[in-house]
Amino acid sequence: MSSIAENLIQVRQQIKSSLEKTDRESSSVMLLAVSKTRPAEDLRQAYAEGQRDFGENYLQESLEKITALQDLDISWHFIGPLQSNKTKAVAENFNWMHTVDRLKIAQRLSDQRPSNLPPLNICVQVNISQEQSKSGVLPSELPELIAKISELPNICVRGLMAIPKATENQKEQQQAFARMQTLLTLLQETHPEMDTLSMGMSGDMDAAIAEGSTIVRIGTAIFGARPAKD
Ligand SMILES: *Cc1c(COP(=O)(O)O)cnc(C)c1O
Repeated sequence: MSSIAENLIQVRQQIKSSLEKTDRESSSVMLLAVSKTRPAEDLRQAYAEGQRDFGENYLQESLEKITALQDLDISWHFIGPLQSNKTKAVAENFNWMHTVDRLKIAQRLSDQRPSNLPPLNICVQVNISQEQSKSGVLPSELPELIAKISELPNICVRGLMAIPKATENQKEQQQAFARMQTLLTLLQETHPEMDTLSMGMSGDMDAAIAEGSTIVRIGTAIFGARPAKD
């Protein structure tokens, strides 16, 4: 068995046991395989093991893989930073966009979504640890932004995404994820269609699942360590 296949089995097992620990339903978390920097062949291997959702960060690289893997029934998620002049390719080629952080991006995605495709699923990225260097909106800016975005016709606001500050401190990690869950719960009062918390990576998926994550974005634990570039 390939190492990607073995890793996938292990990651699925880890998700299952995290869910059991917190009495959550076994199907309540989606595993998103983060395949940035990986060749199309690696994605094909994961696909052969039943993986269908893949996350990509770099537009040009992702478009090459989408073309190379056209014969597969993949659901593509864009999870990287996006300049507003690059929205068209995302609107045309992806099923999900996790990193919306301003109205202009959402507006362009809605305008550019082809009419033969279902609405683009989007998450708004939250700068949950309020780090100067991080993208994402501040929690206080969320209600107004979500209200405006939810009126756009060709996108569907599914929820919130975050990359909390990296820390070895388990408690701090958990608190950041818990704040995300509180934010989503508040927004759900006026936007019941929001059902998604995109949070948790290879190093912190347990904590994220304990605090209500519904999509974990896992790269290293499936495909191995990436080259030093990121
Ligand atoms: C790279 C990346 C991941 C995956 O991180 P790993 O630590 O390799 O699991 C998840 N989310 C985002 C936004 C990323 O850029």
